[in-house]
Amino acid sequence: MSDAKRTAGGALLLDGNALRDQIIAEVGGYVQQHASRLGGTPCLATVLIGDDGPSQVYVRNKHKQAQLAGLASRNETLPADVSQRDAEDLVRRLANDDSVSGIIVQQPVPAHLDGEKLLTLVPVDKDVDGLTTASMGRLMRGLDSLVPCTPLGVLRLLQHYGASTAGKRAVVVGRSNLVGLPLAVLLARKGVDSTVTIAHSRTDDLAALCRDADILISATGQARSIGRDHVKPGAWVIDVGISRGEKGIVGDVVFDEVQAVAGAITPMPGGTGPMTVACLIENTLTAWRRQRGG
Ligand code: NDP
Repeated sequence: MSDAKRTAGGALLLDGNALRDQIIAEVGGYVQQHASRLGGTPCLATVLIGDDGPSQVYVRNKHKQAQLAGLASRNETLPADVSQRDAEDLVRRLANDDSVSGIIVQQPVPAHLDGEKLLTLVPVDKDVDGLTTASMGRLMRGLDSLVPCTPLGVLRLLQHYGASTAGKRAVVVGRSNLVGLPLAVLLARKGVDSTVTIAHSRTDDLAALCRDADILISATGQARSIGRDHVKPGAWVIDVGISRGEKGIVGDVVFDEVQAVAGAITPMPGGTGPMTVACLIENTLTAWRRQRGG
C-alpha cells in the first residue's frame, strides 16, 4: 500500500478520500474501455424530495463523483409537498427506463410520504443503495447482490489498508438497516470471517465490550461518544457517525485521544463518507454491467 499515512500518535490513517479517488479512477477506466462494446455509459438517477440541506449536499456529491467516473447522471427533484402517488410515478418511470442503470431515493423523505413503499418500487437490479428487501434478503442469504454502500465502504477500507479480519473480534455499535446490521453480516461472512458483536443503545457497559474489539466500528451518530477508554491498544477504529455541530462535522469517535491508542483509524470527515459515495458509483457500474451482460 503506497498511500499509507500515520497520525501524530502513530496510528495508520484510513484515508477514505484517497481510496475513493482510486475507485473512481478504476470505474472510469472500465467505462472508457467498455462503453462502446456494452452500448452507452452507466447512468445513476437520484430522487431528491424536499429541501433537506444535508441531502442536497450528499446528492450533489454523488453526481460530482459520477461525472468524474465518466457516468451519466440524472437528478430528479420533487417538492417537499409532493403526493405519494406522484413520487411513486417518478420512481416507476425510472424503473422502466432502460437508459437508467441505478436508482437511489435519497433518505430521509418528508414525513407524510411512505419511504418504504417508494423503496419497494426500485427493481433489485437497479438498487444501487442495496437497501430494498430483495437486496438485503440476498445479502443475508449470501447470494450475489448490490451491497449497501456505507457497510461496503467500511469493508473496502479495512481490506485496502490490510486489516486482518479472520478470527478477529469485531464490535459494530449501531444496528440500523442502513449501516449496523448489513455491516455485521458482511464482517461475519465467509472470506471475511470476523467474530461479530452488535451493540446498541441498550447494551450494558459499552466501553468494556468495545475494549474487547480488534475492529471497532461506531455508527450511532452520538458525537464524540467513543473515547480512548473504549479502545484496545492496536485496534482498528472506524467512525461512521456524522453529527453536525457549531464547529462543523463531528464523528462518534474522539479522534485526538483515540488515534494515540488505535492501530488504525478513520478521520472524520474524510474516512467513511467518501467511501460511501465511491461504493455507490461502483455499484452503479456493477448494475450496468449485469444489465448489459458485461
Ligand atoms: P440510526 O439512528 O438508524 O441508528 C443508530 C444506531 O445507533 C441505533 O441502532 C441505536 O440503537 C444506536 N445507538 C444510538 N445511541 C447509542 C448509544 N448511546 N450507545 C450505543 N448505541 C447507540 O442511524 P443510521 O444507522 O442511519 O446512521 C448512524 C450514523 O451514521 C448517523 O450519524 C448517520 O448520519 C451516519 N451515517 C454516515 C454515513 C457515512 O457515509 N459516513 C452514511 C450513513 C449514515 P437502538 O437501535 O437501540 O436505537
